[in-house]
Amino acid sequence: MKHGLFGGTFDPPHVGHLMMAEVARESLNLDVVDFIPANIPPHKLGQHVQSATLRVKMLETAVAQFPFFRVSTIELERQGISYTIDTVRAISAENPEDELFLLVGADMLKDLPHWKEIDELLALVTVVAAPRPGILLQETADALQKQYGHARMVVLSMPELDISSTWLRERMRNRLRVDPLLPAGVAEVILREGGYRNGPVS
Ligand code: ATP
Repeated sequence: MKHGLFGGTFDPPHVGHLMMAEVARESLNLDVVDFIPANIPPHKLGQHVQSATLRVKMLETAVAQFPFFRVSTIELERQGISYTIDTVRAISAENPEDELFLLVGADMLKDLPHWKEIDELLALVTVVAAPRPGILLQETADALQKQYGHARMVVLSMPELDISSTWLRERMRNRLRVDPLLPAGVAEVILREGGYRNGPVS
């Protein structure tokens, strides 16, 4: 099975996440993509993040209309800081036949050399990178390929979608609408569960 792994904070999930996962799935013919909410993202230590419960509910709703997408709570169950190598090792051990594809945005691709046990991680997955504004994606991928000869890397062909969870959180703080950029049903989940204090709509 061609198995996509898409980690993130998903605070909240937005249409950029869904679109990049869908383009990855189509381009590489993935059988499944696991969306994996981080328990504690190593690059966001000390930052306030919405509860795991709310993030899982939002993600479950976000992927509901996408038959190839699933939500994996592996990092939430493991607790502690969420290192991708630990997740990939566990998934690889459970699915030894699967070919693993790690989906990342260009910002995360750039950060890859700082990830825990990056050499081992690159031996276990093909990295699939999506463009994000402000980062030269192909150049970044080429540089990484040079640095890590054994890396397998795919650059997705899609427009840069200048959307981030940070911007959506800021808009919610200011009581501005974000629902056009949330996957179907996610605004209702936030309203029902009472996340983000001010909620998703004005
Ligand atoms: P924040 O603004 O809170 O840092 P984010 O919007 O970057 O959040 P994350 O949940 O941190 O979202 O991202 C999960 C993964 O999705 C990362 O690999 C990130 O690069 C990628 N990603 C997020 N938004 C986009 C986007 N608009 N286009 C392509 N990839 C994206």
